[in-house]
Amino acid sequence: MDDEELRRLATEILPALPELLDSDVAARMAGELRAALAEPGGAGALAISTVLSGHAATRAWMRERLRAAGLDEPVRLYVPLAGFAPDQPAGRYACPACGYQWFRPTVDDDIPLCSQGHEPLRLTAVTG
Ligand SMILES: [Zn+2]
Repeated sequence: MDDEELRRLATEILPALPELLDSDVAARMAGELRAALAEPGGAGALAISTVLSGHAATRAWMRERLRAAGLDEPVRLYVPLAGFAPDQPAGRYACPACGYQWFRPTVDDDIPLCSQGHEPLRLTAVTG
């Protein structure tokens, strides 16, 4: 995904934000996205990527669009939330608090919180 494609996706997602997010979150993200689009070059592309990575719904939307476009290269998105490690591999994860287990099919899938809401799951076995 090059910078131009990222800008195109950012332009396309703008009108979809109210469907993806709560209205206050959508309004805030739309403002950030327009500001990022106004920045030229790589700095703007990085800002766009950072904004779109800020919410699971927009990350999922981006992945879906890239798949639909036949671009299955790894998505260059950054995950700024504490506790989320974007470079963690696919595998089996478990909650250290209650033992809840979850299988991550691919590295593109976000690692969820424990279903009891305890804390981010931790890797226990790598499968690929
Ligand atoms: Zn738990």
